[in-house]
Amino acid sequence: MGIVRIVGGPGTGKTARLIDAAVEHIADGGAPESVLLLTSARLAATTRGAITARLLNAGTGGLAVVREPLVRSVHSYAFGVLRNAAARVGDPPPRLVTGAEQDGVIRELLAGDLDDGAHGWPRELRPALTTGGFATELRDLLARCAERGVDTDELKRIGRAAGRPEWVAAGRFAQQYEQVMLLRASVGTAAPQATVPALGAAELVGAALEALAADPDLLAAERARIRLLLIDDAQHLDPQAATLVRVLAAGAGLTLIAGDPNQAVFGFRGADADLLSGDSSAVTLTHSHRCAPAIARAISGMAAGLPGTGWRLLEGRDGDGDGSVTVTVAASTHAEAAVIADTLRRAHLVDGVPWSQLAVIVRSVSAAAALTRALAVAGVPVDPPTLDGAIGDQPGVRTLLTVLAATEYGLDDDSAEALLTGPIGRVDPVSLRQLRRALRRADRSLRTALSGPAPQLPATLAAPVKRVRAVLVAATRSHRSHHDPRFTLWQVWERSGLQRRWVSAADRGGADGALAERNLGAITALFDITETYVARTTGASLSGLLEHVAALQLPPVAADVTTAGETVAVLSPHAALGRDWELVVIASLQDGLWPNITPRGGVLGTQRLLDVLDGLGEDVSVRAPLLAEERRLLIAAMGRARSRLLITAVDSDAGDEATLPSVFVPELARVASGASAAVPIPPVQAPPVLSPAAVVGRLRAVVCAPVGAVDEAQRSCAAEQLGRLAEAGVPGADPRQWHGMGQMSTDEPLWSGDDHIVTLSPSTLQTLADCPLRWLAERHGGTETRGLNSTLGSVVHALVAQSSTEAQLVAELENVWAAVPFDSPWYAANELDRHRGMLAAFIAWRAATRHELTEVGTEVALDGVLAEPADGLPGVRVRGRIDRLERDAQGRVVIVDVKTAKSPVTKDDAQQHAQLGLYQLAVAAGLLEDGDQPGGGRLVYVGKRAASGSATEREQNALGAEDAEQWRETVRAAAAATAGPSFAARINEGCSHCPIRPSCPAHTTEVEQS
Ligand code: SF4
Repeated sequence: MGIVRIVGGPGTGKTARLIDAAVEHIADGGAPESVLLLTSARLAATTRGAITARLLNAGTGGLAVVREPLVRSVHSYAFGVLRNAAARVGDPPPRLVTGAEQDGVIRELLAGDLDDGAHGWPRELRPALTTGGFATELRDLLARCAERGVDTDELKRIGRAAGRPEWVAAGRFAQQYEQVMLLRASVGTAAPQATVPALGAAELVGAALEALAADPDLLAAERARIRLLLIDDAQHLDPQAATLVRVLAAGAGLTLIAGDPNQAVFGFRGADADLLSGDSSAVTLTHSHRCAPAIARAISGMAAGLPGTGWRLLEGRDGDGDGSVTVTVAASTHAEAAVIADTLRRAHLVDGVPWSQLAVIVRSVSAAAALTRALAVAGVPVDPPTLDGAIGDQPGVRTLLTVLAATEYGLDDDSAEALLTGPIGRVDPVSLRQLRRALRRADRSLRTALSGPAPQLPATLAAPVKRVRAVLVAATRSHRSHHDPRFTLWQVWERSGLQRRWVSAADRGGADGALAERNLGAITALFDITETYVARTTGASLSGLLEHVAALQLPPVAADVTTAGETVAVLSPHAALGRDWELVVIASLQDGLWPNITPRGGVLGTQRLLDVLDGLGEDVSVRAPLLAEERRLLIAAMGRARSRLLITAVDSDAGDEATLPSVFVPELARVASGASAAVPIPPVQAPPVLSPAAVVGRLRAVVCAPVGAVDEAQRSCAAEQLGRLAEAGVPGADPRQWHGMGQMSTDEPLWSGDDHIVTLSPSTLQTLADCPLRWLAERHGGTETRGLNSTLGSVVHALVAQSSTEAQLVAELENVWAAVPFDSPWYAANELDRHRGMLAAFIAWRAATRHELTEVGTEVALDGVLAEPADGLPGVRVRGRIDRLERDAQGRVVIVDVKTAKSPVTKDDAQQHAQLGLYQLAVAAGLLEDGDQPGGGRLVYVGKRAASGSATEREQNALGAEDAEQWRETVRAAAAATAGPSFAARINEGCSHCPIRPSCPAHTTEVEQS
């Protein structure tokens, strides 16, 4: 018996040594099943293929059929052990549950806890119990415990000893969870599995160890069988898996454990590189067969900064040139995307490197969505986007679920509109308005049009209604025939015709194609989930399926790390492990993002629990190990490149926040250049990308340049080239596709009729007054997703609506803060300070105004008709929520609007402030129960403190009869203007935050100049 450790950097041939050992063992007459090679699941197939090929080449292809796979993942091997153990006593094999399914059960149990008062959980955690994030965190904590063999009693004991009530609560919860999983297994499956426990991946290895310990004959049989034990990537094994290896190694003739402690990057999942250290003999490999010398030198330079005793020297491969490592700092994110796109396109077009041999590695794929889009736009074929977010939130899936819900529970107004405007109905906003109007004339609604008798409609409006009705009818028919949910779902899918549309869109490619692929992937996942649900649930029902899918919070499909085909992979460093490319770009190496030294483990302190289990005290730095792991992650990412490595970051102070390169960037620049001191890396502007769009843009700029600005011969040459490109079908080259050259799609107004009532909120009136075009865009979905600032603004508004003291408000703010997803701790700390200041400013303002104002209410709802339709003008209904309603000394109602912006409007602008004006008008019109005498309005800027420490205030005078008349006219004119069909773009102070700024006609000059 012997154990040999093989340690080495990326591409040093560790796996090849293991393959050699397996092949030699078999070629020397050893039985194939006496070899067990444990590796990661994603590499198992490749390694197996390599061994088979070598055996065939060596002429040993005629060997006997193998009963046990030779190459397996640890989890697959553990499952095999459990299956054998079950077979020995005549039991069925264990049942595996997915992470998404576990999450669903955890969320159900937490909801039950909450219904019972959640007394077992610490008070401060109770509000988090309903969130998907908490369920995921809890699952992670239970998984880490399972991997380390910590049972529920021990978890509770550790929690009590460490003074961590959340661990005690988690221990109690884990007991409940185990019982429920057992129960589900017995109730939710057919008879043969009735007593089989359902196991998550993290519990498999522990269960296998228990099975081996409980059945000495089984252990002896395994030890007798496995003569050569080979372990690859040992740094990724968790302690339980390492114990399993030790148990098996005790019986094997030879055990080879290969790995790289400098690439141990799964610490957050409980991995531990312990197996690679110890007293057994070791071989250290220093010669990389993959990385070119320049890359190997840079990796060695970065490894020099690692703590511990891992390797420090990596020598590059022989032959094929020195390779290159380039570090580029861009002056903006746009410039960074352009640098990367140009590099990738030149590598492919000029150097002939296939797209599949190029990769972009980013620390966070979701944070890099804009980069992926920019690359696609620049003509780099990137991998289709993988699914993130819950399955029920995927747009395509949501449509099918809405049909199923309507079938089960009946159709409501919102679902009817969603189905008509979704992918089945495809009704645009203008047609929807026409449809509503046509139905109103027949005294029908959208809901009754879909569920009652078929309405009489013009052909263009009838088609979408018919499509949705057909799908609903198919679903209802299947449901009434008592078919199981799979069949009903299939009926909906088939009748919707979406498959044909999405498959052809996917074939066409582009942004629509990517979206279609994403929808198709999500639908496939939905069918898989439905299949599993029906197979495992006695009495499966449509309502049960809907609840089951709603409870699944994890992405339905894991990131596909082995996407084949000619595309550029954009992936995380973890997903890149085990793969390599000719050219690798490590992008967006930004401060706060990489290294990410935010303590892991969230509100449950999972990382701290692991530290306690490892015997580390409170005084141990939590950041130093994280920093080391982030450096190892970078080394692992660099080691994926064979010949060329480009590292990019952004250094920019434009926009709301400064963007700084990571601390690793100067170090990388130094090691890449071989210098001993810091190397200056000035930010670069966007280069002209070698792409059709950029070439067309440059040619168009010459063709359309003002007379005299370019040489006329140059202009005609550019025009000729554009003509050639247009003939070749290059998008944007044909003048008929140019902005402003097409026909207007419609000149119909958005609404018409003498009895029309326009609903306005005070904030939309402000938008209408500032810029009608922006109002139009936002009214029809052109809003940006809710950003961090908007979330923080809502938090402040919610807090100041309470009548608490400053200390209570600050305490609540700090509680909320832990749940806000900041990118970097220093930014979170700065923002917390700023928001504490806002609360202090508000409290000071409130105290300073009590002598003149008395609070009437906060968050006061307002809804009523301000003006009936008359004189060709529409009626106006006003709807909104007033931050604070106060009463002044004369008993008049004063409107207070709290603002978190840093820059107050001028005093003159406050007098014309549309939002305050409309609120005052609503008071004067008697729409509030609390009085009809407007006493003025106040804008309270809590983000801008006056010298007194109080919030800065801007006032609007009380509305007199004449002012009221003027405001009424303004509001009615604004309401009338919502009909269009023309909407003016009016440049204003809010343009910098406008979602349609890039395509705004009022800013075209800027766009052309940029
Ligand atoms: S960028 Fe300014 S002018 Fe253009 S639509 Fe937006 S708000 Fe209006």
